Amino acid sequence: VTVAGVDLGGSKIAGVLLDDQGAVLAQVWREHHSRGPESALALIEEVVAELADPDRPAVQAVGVSVAGWLPADRQELLTAANLGIARLPLARLLADRLGCPVWLENDGNATALAEYTRGAGRGAQVLALFTLGTGVGGALVADGSVVAGRHGLAGELGHLPVDRAGPRCTCGARGCLEMAASGPAIAARARRLASRVAGAPLVALAGGQASQITARHVVAAAQAGDELSRQVLAQAGRAVGRAVAMTMAVADPDLVVLGGSVAVAAGPLILDPARQEVARNHPLLTMARAVPIVLAQAGPAAAALGAADLARDRHDRARS
Ligand SMILES: [Zn+2]
Repeated sequence: VTVAGVDLGGSKIAGVLLDDQGAVLAQVWREHHSRGPESALALIEEVVAELADPDRPAVQAVGVSVAGWLPADRQELLTAANLGIARLPLARLLADRLGCPVWLENDGNATALAEYTRGAGRGAQVLALFTLGTGVGGALVADGSVVAGRHGLAGELGHLPVDRAGPRCTCGARGCLEMAASGPAIAARARRLASRVAGAPLVALAGGQASQITARHVVAAAQAGDELSRQVLAQAGRAVGRAVAMTMAVADPDLVVLGGSVAVAAGPLILDPARQEVARNHPLLTMARAVPIVLAQAGPAAAALGAADLARDRHDRARS
């Protein structure tokens, strides 16, 4: 079957069209400022329409990955703070609009499935994934299946409490990993620190305005050797390391994959401090050192690919 996968993130949307064999026929990517249910539905519909070119085979099922909390039955979007959505029966509404079955998955889980099937996670028995982007996503895959939990909330690793003195998170708790290692959190810390330093290279990179600094600027400045930027990324990396140590105590993964645009761009600038923090924090040190933490490999469309694979899998199962 020909399937489409769409990944709706807080600031970008990606779509892929896959053939029978899972090969990519077409890809769509764009930034967006969509807020609210109607705008999100229209955006997803637009991307699927763009993928479903009349010259290509018709789309028979659609998988949608979304940065939000879904219940265990994956029919409804309970909350997506970054998209301004709460309690939306997204699967049904999209199926009506698109005229084919639609399956939803949380973006962390969709990304983890893509890493497991096509990326850095191939061969892992228990895979833990962290994605650093607009938010911090996470997922656990055991023996090839997403660990969803009773309420569909297992693997929400972005909400592990890594810093009890940290800022209040969108989830209501304090000091979540998301508040320490997401792109906006990294940018906010860099703005605060850089605005206190006369002639900070990071400010120059952001066009002379500390308020315009983004995580992308921080990564670029760090790669050019800016110490302040390196420190900001190292701090995010250490927060990831504390979360990885917690995850190891709970789920005992044999592989940890670090993905998301921020982490993949920063590479060792986040990865190395994360590894050092795990080695420092984990009580079972010898085991801790044996668990590799590696960068994601399925690319920026990973969540869309995972959602598309999931749609094929569910579609095949529904027919057999
Ligand atoms: Zn939180």
